[in-house]
Amino acid sequence: MKKLNLFLFLFFVSTLVAKQNPKNIILLIGDGMGISAVSASVHSIQNDQFKKFKSIGLVNTCSADKLVTDSAAGATAYATGFRTNNGKLGIDPSGKKLENIVEIVKRKNMSAGVVVTCSVTNATPAAFLSHVESRKSEFEIAEQIYKNNNVDLILGAGTDFFLPKNLGGKRKDGKNIADSMKQKGYQVIIDTTFSIKNFTKKTLGLFSPNAFVYADKRNFTLGDMTKSAIDYLSKNKNGFFLMVEGSQIDWGEEHNDRNYFYSEMKDFNSAIKEALDFAEKDKNTLVIVLADHDTGSFGINSKNDDGLVDWTWASNKHTANLIGLFSFGPGAELFTGIQNNFEVGRKLINLFQKKF
Ligand SMILES: [Zn+2]
Repeated sequence: MKKLNLFLFLFFVSTLVAKQNPKNIILLIGDGMGISAVSASVHSIQNDQFKKFKSIGLVNTCSADKLVTDSAAGATAYATGFRTNNGKLGIDPSGKKLENIVEIVKRKNMSAGVVVTCSVTNATPAAFLSHVESRKSEFEIAEQIYKNNNVDLILGAGTDFFLPKNLGGKRKDGKNIADSMKQKGYQVIIDTTFSIKNFTKKTLGLFSPNAFVYADKRNFTLGDMTKSAIDYLSKNKNGFFLMVEGSQIDWGEEHNDRNYFYSEMKDFNSAIKEALDFAEKDKNTLVIVLADHDTGSFGINSKNDDGLVDWTWASNKHTANLIGLFSFGPGAELFTGIQNNFEVGRKLINLFQKKF
């Protein structure tokens, strides 16, 4: 009888563990998207997705050496589960290489994708794709993306860093990284716009020399790119990891430009919607929405004729204000409360390694 009780207890525990570990994780990072940015979305953006979340936490975004993080150290904490110094990507303060979540899921024969609206060599995506001393080494980051040859789908901007000067890029070493990736079996799409694609093989898609134009001026959304990415990555029966970044929310805030901010925030909401729509149907996908840090921090004080709230900016720089974390799906409850940024990264990695 005792043995039976023990067996039933272990069976119960194992089902709990199995329930908590999602097959897929979609991590959506709003660069610079502090609590005030989320508040503006909730108050006035028509396609706001944040109200859908029931599981919410707060994150301390400090880096290893500074109270106020930059995007490189901020994204490294999520990508590797370790804090580093500002400016560094995928390495610890002493220079030691840190394995990132893309490398971990690829070892498990899962799929991995990165979708952004800046250059794919910019700080946030680069934390998931490279290991360099300085975020400024964007030509080296492009080369590491080619050499690592592991990520299944990369969509964003950045021909400047993949093409030599004579082909319209900015590489002075004459290397054509896009072509090298083709030779490794990638489909390489270089275009001025993104159109929804049914990807069937590993793909590098670059749709602008550096960052995309403002979201309002694009004829596609981050949601369109996210949908294509999920459709492709979810074909892998072992599961997938996808990082999506609303890269330019931060830039709207750094310019204290309300219209720019709203344009990017609406665009980011379109990506959250695609992730949630998929996760609701799939039931085995964890969706996490957060920021690498707050930027600008504003106090909302009025509503304009356009139906959007207005505010007074506190700053045009990054701040150390806590940011919000919104989670949905299996494992979502692990991300409530106040947590450090590197702990979020560790939890993501532990979920894939089934350590809960
Ligand atoms: Zn940032």
